[in-house]
Amino acid sequence: MLFVDETTRLKHYHGMRKAIHLVCFLIFVALPFSNFMRFDIPRQRFYFAGHELWINEFAIIFFSLLFLMFLISAAALFYGRIYCGYLCPQMIFSEWSTMIQSRIDKFITKKFISWPAPRRKLVSALGFYTVLAATSVVLAFVFISYFVEPRDLLGRLLALDIHTAGGIAGAVVTLITFLDFTLVRQRFCKVACPYGYLQGMLSDRNSLLVVYDDPKQQCIECKKCIRVCEMGIDIRKSPYQIECIHCGECVDACTDIMARLKNDTLIRYQWGESAPTGKETWFHKLGFRDAKRVVILFVLLFYAAGLATALSMRHNVLVQIRPERGQKLYQLGEDGEVRNTFKVRMANRGSQAATVALALQDLPGARLSEASIPLAPGEQVEREVEISWRPSGPGEVNHFRITAYSTPDKSREEIAMTFLSPPKGKQ
Ligand code: SF4
Ligand code: SF4
Repeated sequence: MLFVDETTRLKHYHGMRKAIHLVCFLIFVALPFSNFMRFDIPRQRFYFAGHELWINEFAIIFFSLLFLMFLISAAALFYGRIYCGYLCPQMIFSEWSTMIQSRIDKFITKKFISWPAPRRKLVSALGFYTVLAATSVVLAFVFISYFVEPRDLLGRLLALDIHTAGGIAGAVVTLITFLDFTLVRQRFCKVACPYGYLQGMLSDRNSLLVVYDDPKQQCIECKKCIRVCEMGIDIRKSPYQIECIHCGECVDACTDIMARLKNDTLIRYQWGESAPTGKETWFHKLGFRDAKRVVILFVLLFYAAGLATALSMRHNVLVQIRPERGQKLYQLGEDGEVRNTFKVRMANRGSQAATVALALQDLPGARLSEASIPLAPGEQVEREVEISWRPSGPGEVNHFRITAYSTPDKSREEIAMTFLSPPKGKQ
């Protein structure tokens, strides 16, 4: 665990954060293309863990959303605003934009040192805005891919579509992304981010904090901890400042300065305000410091189990059958056969063509008017299917089962039904 061992704390949170930022960026780009997690608003689909879920698949969407909500709450309760510092796309791209601006400034200054300062400034700004404009198109494309199928979106982008909802959304998100990462950056985290405030509310006296502790008054007032802070705060004033995103940059800064003086850092990650005793058990080091956290873990496991169960029970092809007993309960044919009508609804929620074969059990000699129904990917059909049977017994209500066998996913479903026939003597 990265943050827990106060006595052997890591000194390179910056490097670790940048590595995690890179992984997060790759995940951010890959998710919509892999269908791991994506909404498709035009087609009303939700993709999760490779499954194409229809918007009416309530159980899976319910468990997915509750699981994610509790995961976010648990992360904030255990680890404070660690999401902001290590995982949040707003923070990742804000820091990236600041870094790109600084590099372009340095490059222009170095290469064109003979130019007057205003001209260098203008060229730097033009270079920076050009890079950010191109990046904004890419980021907006990836972001909208979470809601519109990527190939469809690419077609709209190449056609410079700004007439349809998808095209307009693309143009607006590109503009917002550009303004965000050129003008707003971390100011958004300070004043507008609801998740930042939520995390602040969820944290308690046992959550992970970045704490300044200087009982021997060793601080040399170098202020490096303030200079490296992306949020522009002085952690020495309080560990509870709402702006602090627990990124650990100030820990690295003070560790570095104090190491030169052969002292231990004055700023560290710590669980709550109580200093480490050195007797913490492994579960204390993981952040399990009270019963509330254990309960949260069990709730999280409950939703994860519910989600896993709902996903494992899911079939790509949905089959629903109900009797159609409108004006007549049954029909009598001239040949002496009795006919019952059933309404069949089928939906192929997979990405491959499927065929559903229907078969009857416990109704010997009965015939179906349609026994095999093909379904294109994403297709829904509703049919009336007739069952013809010459009743062999005296009963008016005959219990039987319809088996629906779907290929290629080989799922099988049995649906209990009743076949009604005329009372004895009327046949
Ligand atoms: S980096 Fe450490 S020594 Fe320097 S001002 Fe901050 S707390 Fe004091
Ligand atoms: S005070 Fe330290 S941990 Fe908090 S945001 Fe600033 S650098 Fe990051």
